[in-house]
Amino acid sequence: MTVPAFSSERDLARRALDTARSRGATYSDVRFVRRQVEDAQVKNGALEMVDRTDTLGFSVRAIADGSWGFAASSVLTNAEADRIAALAVDVARASALTKISDVRLASVKPVTATYETAVEIDPWSLSFDDRLKLLFDADTAMRAQQPKLRTTRASYEIWREDKLFLSSEGADIAQRLTETGCSISAESVGDGEQQIRSYPASGGRNQNKAGWEFAQRWDLAGNAPRVADEAMALLTATQCPQDIRTTVILSANQVMLQTHESCGHPIEHDRALGTEAAFAGTSFLTADALGSYRYGSEIVNMRIDSTTPGGLGTFGFDDEGVPASEGWAVKDGTFVGYLMSRETAATIGRESNGTMRADGWSRLPIIRMTNVSLMPGNAGTLEDLIADTDDGIYMDTNRSWSIDDKRFNFQFGTQIGWLIKGGKRTEMVRNPTYTGITPEFWGSCDAICSKSEWSVWGTPNCGKGQPVQSGHTGHGAAPARFRNVRVGVVR
Ligand SMILES: [Zn+2]
Repeated sequence: MTVPAFSSERDLARRALDTARSRGATYSDVRFVRRQVEDAQVKNGALEMVDRTDTLGFSVRAIADGSWGFAASSVLTNAEADRIAALAVDVARASALTKISDVRLASVKPVTATYETAVEIDPWSLSFDDRLKLLFDADTAMRAQQPKLRTTRASYEIWREDKLFLSSEGADIAQRLTETGCSISAESVGDGEQQIRSYPASGGRNQNKAGWEFAQRWDLAGNAPRVADEAMALLTATQCPQDIRTTVILSANQVMLQTHESCGHPIEHDRALGTEAAFAGTSFLTADALGSYRYGSEIVNMRIDSTTPGGLGTFGFDDEGVPASEGWAVKDGTFVGYLMSRETAATIGRESNGTMRADGWSRLPIIRMTNVSLMPGNAGTLEDLIADTDDGIYMDTNRSWSIDDKRFNFQFGTQIGWLIKGGKRTEMVRNPTYTGITPEFWGSCDAICSKSEWSVWGTPNCGKGQPVQSGHTGHGAAPARFRNVRVGVVR
């Protein structure tokens, strides 16, 4: 077990809880968080950037006079624990002046527990040079394959969070969460075109709750020549057909983002209740939709699961001390479940499914996607699915996206596409885009690849809240087919 003991932090946490109680808090909790991150990027054969951060601090959340207060500090002394606890209670009292109703919390069993991410190779145990080698090998392989590429990049992130949570209800939970992410990309320029291919996912990185074995598993150097070739080939590829309706097959990494934007965000209960309207908030999945709304076709099953191995939303307990859980967001096409907090769950008479997470010690926990996954179907492999398709377009890896605040109308573009004719992947096409309306689009899903094509993707850069918090969310996905989709429409 490598979870820290947190001895001195626990003493300060107990002191803060006592102070909050004596100041009149009816509930309080304290979180200590130490976060260590290292990002590195190689660009065009040279080390472009190394960014290391190591932060430690604590925060107090308190309910007084029926409202929330919050305060945080990076000064770890008895006097500061007292001051921050008292400040959280003062903020709660001030908030109560404008409250609509008293906060009620769904019950949770307070436990004493520890949890840590299962890791095969601790990335922090490797030398910096060992980690960099992965990037240089991949970058070199891209440039050797296609010397005319404008820009090649390879990057990784290693991330570790040690957390202690104590509540006035008696919870005492320590966790060590570890993440590893990686990415390569190749950019080409010519004839007025600029094209990009990246791997394993788009733009940012693909990241998992895992050790360095995750970065090794994707074989960046082995895939580098193909990524380089495709980036160059896109410069002279035919433009994707414009303004047609056709069958579209999306790659798993695009299904991942489609799920994130059009299912993960609208099932956030704070959006649905109208309490999260900032930063593209609110949702079309309002309270009256729960349990009856036809979200997609009968084969569409979306799971909310914070126990999925490797998922960025996988942990032992959320930042309210609620244990990891599994359940459904969409079952057989019907919308059945929200991502909830203790407070929002109480409004519909349910228990929290544990989705409250804060971006470090200085931020208030808010409802975040854990792992929201499209479950596999029975369409076999990607090649089986293409062979089963007479006419359509296969689209791979996100390039651009836009979606309205309610998460209803969307447009996505991918980096690359291939026409499908008579069950065969034929000509490569560039700049593919598709548009849709969330329930119509998922309603047109008639095939999802099988478990062998399903893997857990992670986006480490989901923005939400004011001040904005960056969330790490997980999404299991497999390639899927959608019928009668509008393609190539520029809005
Ligand atoms: Zn997001």
